[in-house]
Formats: sequence, structure tokens, C-alpha cells
Amino acid sequence: MKATLCPGCYRPVYESSSSHTLIGAGPMPVIGLCRLCAEGTTLRSLRQADVPVDPQQRAVLETVAAVA
Ligand SMILES: [Zn+2]
Repeated sequence: MKATLCPGCYRPVYESSSSHTLIGAGPMPVIGLCRLCAEGTTLRSLRQADVPVDPQQRAVLETVAAVA
């Protein structure tokens, strides 16, 4: 099975579980998010932990949060 890295958290995501997470309504199409990122759980966790986040990773997660 082919796996890609989730653009929001860099965990491997298998195609069969990411097919429903195509998000293209925002300024930046986001493909292949894991379930946690698609639901916004990852962004909430990062904010609660108050840890530095890679700017590109944050942009992906905030795009998802804006359209979810
Ligand atoms: Zn993720």
C-alpha cells in the first residue's frame, strides 16, 4: 500500500484512509491529510502545547481550519 506524509503533521497516511480528506476550497488545495489534521485536532493540540510549528505546516493546518 502506498503511503504519503500528511502535510499537516508529517505522519504517514495511507491512500485508503485519506481519500476523503481532499480539501480544495481554500486558497491552497490540501491533499492527503490524516484524520486528525482534517478534523483540526492537530492544530488544537499544537496551540494548547504552545510549541513552535513549521510555518508551512501551520499554513496547511490553518487552511484546513478555515474551510472545515
Ligand atoms: Zn496529519
